[in-house]
Amino acid sequence: LAQALRDRLEGALEGLDLPDSIWISKDRLSEHAACEGRLQAALAREGPPFAHSLQSAAGTLLHRAVQLDIASERAADVRSVVDRAAVRLVDDDRSFALFWRGMDALDRADLAGLAACELALFREMFPPLERAAQPVSEQLLIAKLAGGRVVLSGRIDLIVGRRSRILLDFKRGDAWPAHAEDMRFYGLLSTLMFDAPPRRVATVYLASMEWQAEEVDRRILDHAADRVIATATTAAELAGGRTPHLSPGRHCEWCPRARDCPRSAVRAAAASAGDGLRARLVSPTFGVPTFR
Ligand code: SF4
Repeated sequence: LAQALRDRLEGALEGLDLPDSIWISKDRLSEHAACEGRLQAALAREGPPFAHSLQSAAGTLLHRAVQLDIASERAADVRSVVDRAAVRLVDDDRSFALFWRGMDALDRADLAGLAACELALFREMFPPLERAAQPVSEQLLIAKLAGGRVVLSGRIDLIVGRRSRILLDFKRGDAWPAHAEDMRFYGLLSTLMFDAPPRRVATVYLASMEWQAEEVDRRILDHAADRVIATATTAAELAGGRTPHLSPGRHCEWCPRARDCPRSAVRAAAASAGDGLRARLVSPTFGVPTFR
């Protein structure tokens, strides 16, 4: 199955005219599914550099704490694990270090408390993972295709088992359809890397202590391969000068082109809010017009 998938991907990708190698992650696939303009902006690295918010920093800290909790086999209490994870991140992760250093002691304690709550939920959901199950967290997987011109990559939160793998991704918020697609992509990546498909993939929602699981079969892996081929093909066409098809939606909120794109849903919403304001200001109910 792994070889059949690899052959299919190679056959579809080898003829693509790509100026540089393209790295395809779960985010690139989501951007392509949302809007070609958004994919083009991401590939061109448009927009400001990434900067943490409180929520994203809490997510990063949680993931690092889960990694340490698994590596240390629950050798310490929840808060000590989170505190040590923060120290590690300040050393290793520049954007987290910037955010952390910009906070005072109380805000840091608040952030650590958020991550500790969720690490406690992780411990409630999972028994201690025995060494025999070979748990590995934050595993980076990279599969090169088309002579290295198309590179698939992903960092999987937790892999349990070796002969019969289960891939898990932890989320702090609510379920989104894209999460299932992310896990199918990880299933494909794992199949290409280890020459065998995982048994199951799942997204784990810590706040509700629920998970969304899927058995991995040929249909799911073919679907993930289709998305990779479509995204790489679009990237090659856009690099060759084709105009992107624009598909506005809620995702425009996170698009670096949201302010200037002619079809941006953000611009449309701002314009209609402006029209509403204008209508209100010229309404006889509000007296003399004050806005032109
Ligand atoms: S603003 Fe919206 S429609 Fe325009 S490129 Fe971005 S995602 Fe697409």
